[in-house]
Amino acid sequence: MITKKKQQTSKSNGRENFLCPFTDVYITQDYGVGSHKGTKAYDIRGAKKGVKYPYYAPCTCKLIWSDRANGQGLWQSMAKVNFANGRVDYATFMTAHDETFDARIGQIVPQGHQLGNMGSKAGGGARSTGVHCHIEIAQAKYTISNWHKNKYGIWCFPKEYSLEDSCYMNDTKIIKGLNKKWKYLPKKKKISYYKKYTGKSGSIADALKSMNIDNSFTHRKKIAAANGIKNYVGSPKQNIQMLDKLKKGKLIVA
Ligand SMILES: [Zn+2]
Repeated sequence: MITKKKQQTSKSNGRENFLCPFTDVYITQDYGVGSHKGTKAYDIRGAKKGVKYPYYAPCTCKLIWSDRANGQGLWQSMAKVNFANGRVDYATFMTAHDETFDARIGQIVPQGHQLGNMGSKAGGGARSTGVHCHIEIAQAKYTISNWHKNKYGIWCFPKEYSLEDSCYMNDTKIIKGLNKKWKYLPKKKKISYYKKYTGKSGSIADALKSMNIDNSFTHRKKIAAANGIKNYVGSPKQNIQMLDKLKKGKLIVA
């Protein structure tokens, strides 16, 4: 296994956000149908048919079981994670068909590092039609003993969640997404500050003007709002607040 980073890591509230393991998502088999009956499994291929694209750890996870004949791995998060549907729990997920599978039981793969490659390896009576990754996700701390055959004779977890209910899709290109409701982490707003005001004026309007910043009331109101100064009316108190921030280089750009 090549350890190549997708450079995709993400945390909120001290927990990892469960990210989509794929760079591109082209669903070749939906959940609930065919060999996925009664499950939330998806078959995913990449942009080009037949290409064995790598896929990456959606969170820091450990291999807890594997079946190399099927290129299959059972992975579990090291801690509770944030799922796209808002649930917080352990993640246990199964991947299959990786012809290059070489992870060892107990091996820990950090979030964003390569987990495996799409492939078409299938054994034990399973079928694989073309290069893809079969993935099914549980939002619980399961073991291989929970992996069972459902009433349709399909192997699965007791309770599964779809990819769209589990993964944040930031940095993933949806090529064939079957109109599922994909979820994204909010983009982090970039905060930038005006340069430090080093002049002597006690007026925010003059200070801004000297720095070639629009000092109109309308713009000052916007700056005030961006800096948590509510209901800006241009009162001396509000202006001093803004000026103090500007002098410290802590006035957020509006
Ligand atoms: Zn499948």
